[in-house]
Amino acid sequence: MFPRVTERLVVRRFTEGDLEDFLAYQTHPEVMRFQPHAPPTRESAARFLAAQAAGAPDGPGDAGGFVAFAAERREDNRVIGDVTLNVYPRAHGRAEIGWSFHPDYHGRGYAAEAAREVLAFAFSRPGLRRITTHCDTRNVASYRLMERLGMRCEGRQRENVRIGGAWRDTYTYALLRDEWLAAARGGDGAAAAPAAYRHAPEDYVCPFCLLIAGIEDTRRVLSVATDVVYRDAEVTVLVSSHQYPNNPGHVLVIPNRHYENLYELPDALGGSIHAAARAVALAMKTAYGCDGVSTRQHNEPAGYQDVWHYHLHVFPRYPGDELYSSRSRLMDPADRAAYARRLRAHLPGNSPAP
Ligand SMILES: [Zn+2]
Repeated sequence: MFPRVTERLVVRRFTEGDLEDFLAYQTHPEVMRFQPHAPPTRESAARFLAAQAAGAPDGPGDAGGFVAFAAERREDNRVIGDVTLNVYPRAHGRAEIGWSFHPDYHGRGYAAEAAREVLAFAFSRPGLRRITTHCDTRNVASYRLMERLGMRCEGRQRENVRIGGAWRDTYTYALLRDEWLAAARGGDGAAAAPAAYRHAPEDYVCPFCLLIAGIEDTRRVLSVATDVVYRDAEVTVLVSSHQYPNNPGHVLVIPNRHYENLYELPDALGGSIHAAARAVALAMKTAYGCDGVSTRQHNEPAGYQDVWHYHLHVFPRYPGDELYSSRSRLMDPADRAAYARRLRAHLPGNSPAP
């Protein structure tokens, strides 16, 4: 979602009021040096900004499309560049990223600061798994930036674009969603959140990681395979081992990789968790006939967290159910399995259980 505020920038959708700033860098000779197209005219730039301003706030839908994000300096509200995203139709799972910044601000990390926000946004889109970009092989600053963003060079295309009357070679760089997630978590596996915000004991055996690894050890792990409602490459939805008396069949949505809490959960996973929560909430509506749905998520002991692997609770709700004042207790695995079967039968893409 935009705008996103970074240390020095606001990354946001364009408005028609950005015309002067936009022309200042888009027509700058140094920016044009590596561009295959002619600089925009005042009229074409105004049309472009008007179209961008009128675009859907959350970016292109499933059909794909082109979106440009303005990078505005917080200290003087000047738009100093943009990061663009060309999103292919959802089934392709692909997008292309690009950027242009005013030469007065080159070499100060602004483009990386803005591009990271756009990459996080792109990878939060369901199904998007690969982002590519390319640049003139003479444009050292541009491919250094690609490398700083964690993109890998996938090759050199000979005489691929015509710039200033001459055919030029380009480099193609790419980044996969898994690579982005790994980097977002820190290449060495270290969490981004301060250590003081983590409370798992040194020798913690994570029950959710064991479940996801397919290990059922009921002395240590209450959740079992028959609790699982849904599973994909990133998230798992399972019927909780502990249940509340008036809201039976509530579920947990968890990332398949271990993150202790909300503070260290990569943004790109948030979209997948949200999508799974919504799908199971809608399945509850039909499977249970509940009147509503609530979600809850706990961080640190003061936030009632007692399992040290991020989990989002999704509860079926009924009038007068007293969810917030009632206490949970362990439910028999056979009863949990029955709730899991009911939900599975009502998830899109799953056929009803026999
Ligand atoms: Zn875990």
